[in-house]
Amino acid sequence: MSKDKRIAHGVRCTWWDSADKVMVVGGIPLCPKCKKACGYVDNEEAWFNDVEQYAATRKNFAEFVEWTRGRCFNNFSEAVRAFTAETGKSVDV
Ligand SMILES: [Zn+2]
Repeated sequence: MSKDKRIAHGVRCTWWDSADKVMVVGGIPLCPKCKKACGYVDNEEAWFNDVEQYAATRKNFAEFVEWTRGRCFNNFSEAVRAFTAETGKSVDV
C-alpha cells in the first residue's frame, strides 16, 4: 500500500496534520482532539501552496500555520493568542 500523502485539516477547528493522524469514524474524518469534522487536501505541497498564497500578505502567518500542526483550537483567535504567548510574535489572520 502506498502511503496516504493527504493532509487532513479541521473544518471547525485549527487542527491539521498528515492524513494518518486523523480519526476516522464511519468513514468520516474527524479531528483526533475535538472530534469535529475534517477535510482533506491532496498533499503537503497543495496545502502549503494555499498557505503561502494566504501568507503573502499576512505577517507571520506561514510560521503560525506550521506551529498549529497537530494542535486543536476552536478558532484562529484562540490559536493566535496561544501562538503569541509562546513565541512572542503577532500574526495576521
Ligand atoms: Zn479539533
